[in-house]
Amino acid sequence: MVVESGQKVVFYHRWCKACGICVEFCPRHALGVRLDSHPHLAQEERCNSCGLCEFLCPDFAITVPHRHGR
Ligand code: SF4
Ligand code: SF4
Repeated sequence: MVVESGQKVVFYHRWCKACGICVEFCPRHALGVRLDSHPHLAQEERCNSCGLCEFLCPDFAITVPHRHGR
């Protein structure tokens, strides 16, 4: 897995099926959808590393490196 260091949310796009769950349920509205329908951290300043997107992703395609409570 390629981890982009320094990012609050890391996506493993090969496992992502672009279902949109993470984008819809982010309580901070920090995620957006790319042109290829995959999610990305559109507004990093809004993300508080709550870890909900990592928890909800059915395909284990998200890691929040500094998730609260880890
Ligand atoms: S919840 Fe997981 S599989 Fe669905 S769009 Fe987000 S990263 Fe991709
Ligand atoms: S860690 Fe929380 S605030 Fe940050 S993108 Fe994921 S769900 Fe949104």
